[in-house]
Amino acid sequence: MQIIAIPSGVLRANSYLVTENGTDAVLIDCGDSEPLTAARKRGLQITHVLLTHGHFDHCMGCAALQDAGAKIGCAKKEKQFLFSEANLATEMGLCMPPFSIDFFYEEGDLLELSGVRLRVLETPGHTPGGVCFQTEDALFTGDTLFCESVGRTDFPGGNTSQLIASVRRLLALPGDCTVYPGHDCQTTLQHERKWNPYA
Ligand SMILES: [Zn+2]
Repeated sequence: MQIIAIPSGVLRANSYLVTENGTDAVLIDCGDSEPLTAARKRGLQITHVLLTHGHFDHCMGCAALQDAGAKIGCAKKEKQFLFSEANLATEMGLCMPPFSIDFFYEEGDLLELSGVRLRVLETPGHTPGGVCFQTEDALFTGDTLFCESVGRTDFPGGNTSQLIASVRRLLALPGDCTVYPGHDCQTTLQHERKWNPYA
C-alpha cells in the first residue's frame, strides 16, 4: 500500500492518497482540488473520497472531486454537521462548493474500495460524528489525534471528555502502526502512548 500526504487548502489540512494497485486511489479528506492535480500527475484515478469529519478545511475539495467522478463518503452521524454552519466555512468567509454524499459509513464498517481495505472507528469529540480509518499498518486520525497533541474541542459540537475517550481508544489499539493525522507530521501509536499528554 502506498500513502501520499498532500497538504491542501487554506489551513493546509493533510489529504492522503492511498493506493493498493498504483492505478486507482482512495482519498482521505479533501482540503481543495490539489489532491486531484497530485493524483493525475502520478497517473492515479481517485475513485472514492472518505471524510474523517465535516470541517470545511477537510471538505472544500469535495465538489471538484465529485465532478471528476469520485464517490464521496461521510460518516452517518456527521452528515448534518457537515452541511451546517458548524462546518466553519462561513466563519472563515468561505463558501463550500456544493456536493452530495454518495455513501455513508459507521462504527465497525469494513470498507473495501479499489482494493484498499479500511475499518471505520467512530471517534467523536472534535466533532460529533468524526471517524478514523484503520488499515493493516496505518491509522488515519483526522483531527482527533495529532503528533503529541489532540484535536480542539472549542468549536461548535466539540466535547472534551468524548475526545479524550476517543484518543485513549486509539492508543489502546493493539500493536503499533504509523499515524497519519489531519494536520502536521506523521507519528506512531507507540510514540503517542509515550509522549501524548492525553495518553
Ligand atoms: Zn477539524
